[in-house]
Amino acid sequence: MLTVAAVGLIGTGTSAADPAPSPAGTGKAAAPATDLTQHPKLSLPAPDPAKWGTPQRGADVMASSVRADGSRVITFYTPVPGESASTLYQLLKKQGVTGLQDPAAPATSGSTASGSTASGSTTPALAAAGITSCRYGTAQLYNCATDSNVAHQFHWTNGCCTDPQIWFVDHTGSSWPVNASTSVWNQTPGIDSHYVYGSCPNYSGQHCVGVTSANYGCSGWEGRTTLQPSSTNYYNIAGASIELNDYNGTCATSAGTVNYAKNSSGYRQATCHEQGHALGMGHNSATDSCLYAATMMASSYEQPDTDDFTLLSQLYSVAY
Ligand SMILES: [Zn+2]
Repeated sequence: MLTVAAVGLIGTGTSAADPAPSPAGTGKAAAPATDLTQHPKLSLPAPDPAKWGTPQRGADVMASSVRADGSRVITFYTPVPGESASTLYQLLKKQGVTGLQDPAAPATSGSTASGSTASGSTTPALAAAGITSCRYGTAQLYNCATDSNVAHQFHWTNGCCTDPQIWFVDHTGSSWPVNASTSVWNQTPGIDSHYVYGSCPNYSGQHCVGVTSANYGCSGWEGRTTLQPSSTNYYNIAGASIELNDYNGTCATSAGTVNYAKNSSGYRQATCHEQGHALGMGHNSATDSCLYAATMMASSYEQPDTDDFTLLSQLYSVAY
């Protein structure tokens, strides 16, 4: 729920990752910002202890890098249809993307986080909430595949409010259904996801995630999400951004022809998928989730599944 504790403060909210280009010329009509009163939360069953599980690797292509200002960022890349994680890994390597993690490498035990000011201080709160693993059923959290410690999972802070307030700021072209997809993620108890067109709202303690689209050509990916860990508490997300690839052609690669063509289900899944990453979710190994690792052209992949909603709501059942 949105309960603003500091009404009237001019915002210094987390908007650093919002590139804020003008939406003019995108061909997309402005839509009103989300009215939360029109969007009730899901009633989810209590988590089933038997569904907490061992993290899985193999479907993720991630890169960790340090920006010129010294801040570390972690980027998740989503392969195009039919492209394996290992093919995407090889393509990104050829492009000179640094800090790539081999999708075949095993997860760490998570005792430390590289380049971080890691702290396990959230462990008691998570344990008290009954959260014993970063994997639930077929769903898992963003950092789970590389660092299996449940206390080492990225999350947004509550900031102003009872629950974290995430504003997806839409700068994409008309093919990308950011508004509809945001409404679905907003059904998650414990975190509010708002849609806004073009610019970040200005109040203190909210978080803005810029969502852009451009023609990235034969990049190997349909979408990518970048999280910036906080410099003071590594597992707090200080900023995030989403980039979606408008390219619709085919490309020859060393692993065969890669097809970037998308139907409406493909656009919808890629949007939902990257938004899930921006909220703290990793990949889902089930084919009824938009967080399935690769983009698919089927309506069954357009939305999160119950395990995604349950795991995300558990992550945000604790105040950060
Ligand atoms: Zn992904």
